[in-house]
Amino acid sequence: MIRLVIQDLSAEAADNLDTWQGKVDDKPTFSEKVSEAKRLWKLKNKKNNATFKEVKSVLTQMCSGVRRCCYCEDSLADEVEHIHPKDIYPEMVFQWDNYLYACGPCNGPKNNNFAVFRQQDGVFEEVTPPRSNPNPAPPTPGDPVLVNPRSEDPMGFLMLDIMDSFFFSEIPADGTRDYKRAEYTIELLRLNGRDLKDARENAFENYVSRLSRYVTRRDAGANQAELGKLIGGIKTEAHPTVWAEMKRYFRDFNQAMQQQLPELWGLFSQAPEALNW
Ligand SMILES: [Zn+2]
Repeated sequence: MIRLVIQDLSAEAADNLDTWQGKVDDKPTFSEKVSEAKRLWKLKNKKNNATFKEVKSVLTQMCSGVRRCCYCEDSLADEVEHIHPKDIYPEMVFQWDNYLYACGPCNGPKNNNFAVFRQQDGVFEEVTPPRSNPNPAPPTPGDPVLVNPRSEDPMGFLMLDIMDSFFFSEIPADGTRDYKRAEYTIELLRLNGRDLKDARENAFENYVSRLSRYVTRRDAGANQAELGKLIGGIKTEAHPTVWAEMKRYFRDFNQAMQQQLPELWGLFSQAPEALNW
């Protein structure tokens, strides 16, 4: 998971979202706000709705590769995901800042699962509502635990092991709040589950091949247009976290990379310009 480059909606689409959000916010009780959020969401988030057509199109541009999920970077992104679940935070159901494009396998299990560090004492608390909840109550106030790729850099929390396991691990020191955030994010989004390990390993091989091809063609005197195309291929390859991690390893773990990933180390050494892609 990498930090998303945020794009804006048109003024018209943003206004429409504001209007619908206003209808939810106008309801007098929390329970009514939740019902209205669900009702309006179902009504508006449809294929023929021009505003949501635009929402999906802009979210697509924010995705990696060919519309890959912003969480796992693997499956097709086809669901407008509320980072803060709408059943718990109805005041964010039509907030652009709360959207990203996700796949079903990520969105499904995440569902209404959410946690905060309580405002009153900083203690971790799951605020996931019970399944059948006729009288929902507002969640305990606090800061979200889940790392938000729209507003934070997930790579400051998570590290991908590209030398061996292709699993994510937590960067912050064990026992800290940031460690808990990293751990919770990996678990909630199942970033080490499914077949993601194999998919990342495959992407790693693709990046190495593409970089190797670039170095070969550059050294053979290929023109800018051809090189630009090869660079573009790297920038739109699946699993951009793998690429970002390859660059980080070269910068931060140079010696280890030289020993354990000599081919990649050699390629970056020959083409340091790739560290800026
Ligand atoms: Zn996903």
